[in-house]
Amino acid sequence: MAAADPAKPWETTRRGLLLLVSSPAGAGKTSLSRRLVADYADLILSISATTRAPRPGEEEGREYFFKERAQFHAMVEAGELLEWAEVNGNCYGTPKAPVMAAMEAGKDVLFDIDWQGARQVAQKAPDDSVRVFVLPPSWPDLSRRLHARAQDSEEIIRQRLALGQREIQHWNEYDYVIVNKDFDRAYADLIHIYRSERMKPGRNPWLPQFVQALREE
Ligand code: 5GP
Repeated sequence: MAAADPAKPWETTRRGLLLLVSSPAGAGKTSLSRRLVADYADLILSISATTRAPRPGEEEGREYFFKERAQFHAMVEAGELLEWAEVNGNCYGTPKAPVMAAMEAGKDVLFDIDWQGARQVAQKAPDDSVRVFVLPPSWPDLSRRLHARAQDSEEIIRQRLALGQREIQHWNEYDYVIVNKDFDRAYADLIHIYRSERMKPGRNPWLPQFVQALREE
C-alpha cells in the first residue's frame, strides 16, 4: 500500500484491486481492457508469459512475453508465476513480481486471462479480486469479428470458437457480466464496475482516520 499524504489521504493510501477480465476470443475483452488501462493511471495491465507464437503485429513485452516451453516451465518451477494454465495447446501465465510490486505501490492490476487463471487468482486473493466476464451479443457476431480481424487462419478461428464455447460455460463464476453489444456502452459498464469496486471501504484504508478527523472538526 502506498504511503499517505496527510493532506490528501485518498490520493495515496489505497489498497489495490485485481480486475480479472475473461471472455471468448473476439468478444472485445482486449480492446475494453486496454482502453481502461489507458484511461486510468492507477490501473496497470498484467503482461502474461506465453508459449504461443506471436501473431502479426504483436510485440515482445507489449502483448505478451513470448517464451519457449522449457523457459516457461522453468518459470513455473521457480515459482515466478501467480497462476498459469494451458489454453488451446499453449501455456499462458501471469508473472508474479509485477503484480506484487503494483499491489505494494497501491496500484490496481488488470488481467486479460482465461477462466482457469481468473479462478486461481481469485482463490489466492479473494478479497482483492473482482471478476468480469464479457459476452458477445450473439455467436454469429463473434464469428464475424474473428473473421474481420483477419489475424488467423480458418482452422485457428474454428479452434478459437470451440474454445470460446467452453469458456462461456464459466460465466457464472464471475462477479459481473457485460454483454458487448456496443463498445461504448460496454466500456461505460466496465468503468462503472471498476469505479464502484474502488469505492469499497476495504480498498480505502484511509477512511477510518479521515472519518475520525471529520468527527473531531
Ligand atoms: P490469445 O492466444 O488469444 O492471446 O489468448 C488465449 C486465451 O488465453 C485468452 O482467453 C486469454 O485471456 C488467455 N490468457 C492470456 N494470458 C493468460 C494468462 O496469463 N493466464 C491465463 N490463465 N490465461 C491467459
